[in-house]
Amino acid sequence: MLKVENLNVSIGPIPIIRNASLQVDEGQMCGLIGRNGAGKTTLLRALMGAIPATGTVQFEHIDLLALPAHRRAAHGIGYMPEDRRLVPEFTVGENILLPTWSTEVADVDTRLEWIFSIMPEVARFKDRRALELSGGQQKMVALARALMAGTRILLLDEPFEGLAPALARRLGEVLANLKTEGVSVLIAESNELHVLDLLARAFYIERGAVSDKR
Ligand code: ATP
Repeated sequence: MLKVENLNVSIGPIPIIRNASLQVDEGQMCGLIGRNGAGKTTLLRALMGAIPATGTVQFEHIDLLALPAHRRAAHGIGYMPEDRRLVPEFTVGENILLPTWSTEVADVDTRLEWIFSIMPEVARFKDRRALELSGGQQKMVALARALMAGTRILLLDEPFEGLAPALARRLGEVLANLKTEGVSVLIAESNELHVLDLLARAFYIERGAVSDKR
């Protein structure tokens, strides 16, 4: 469903992603594993259209690179950036609904209910402002927000980073449950121990080059 071929991304004159290819099949959870600075964030940002890229990115028969960034999420792609990027003054509920203000999401209420049913802890603090939450709780909210737009696929950038062990275990459970919901997921991680049990397939990124072998 997501097929990336020969993706190249340069920042200024420096090639950061070099001829990267990977594929996520329908309903699959795949990993993009590599140490800090390997290029994981750059690759995901290029898929979302935050930085220009060349190559081919086919998503459900759509040529993604041909679409402007603001039209990509509309195809059911949810993105969870590494730094969460919640609006601190907004409530948790408002942060989760944010993607629906710019993108048409069908049946928002039902989707929100579903998100709260798989993450009841987020439902419990839905009326609190994002700035009142711990960093770990904010990560859960960022995942909930990604799920609001991500009806077809989620791109998660180091979701486990900085999580205390109990919350990391809980996040693992939430992601494992997602596998039965038919959502495809690409998870970028520097520590593959967090995700190996979850993954159908892993891709390894090193200095901007991607391989399906370690
Ligand atoms: P991390 O987990 O540390 O974010 P990463 O695998 O996501 O690591 P990227 O953030 O994609 O890696 O960075 C890949 C490379 O691109 C690094 O060498 C980084 O220094 C470089 N880079 C990223 N953004 C910029 C930028 N705006 N200007 C110059 N170089 C950049």
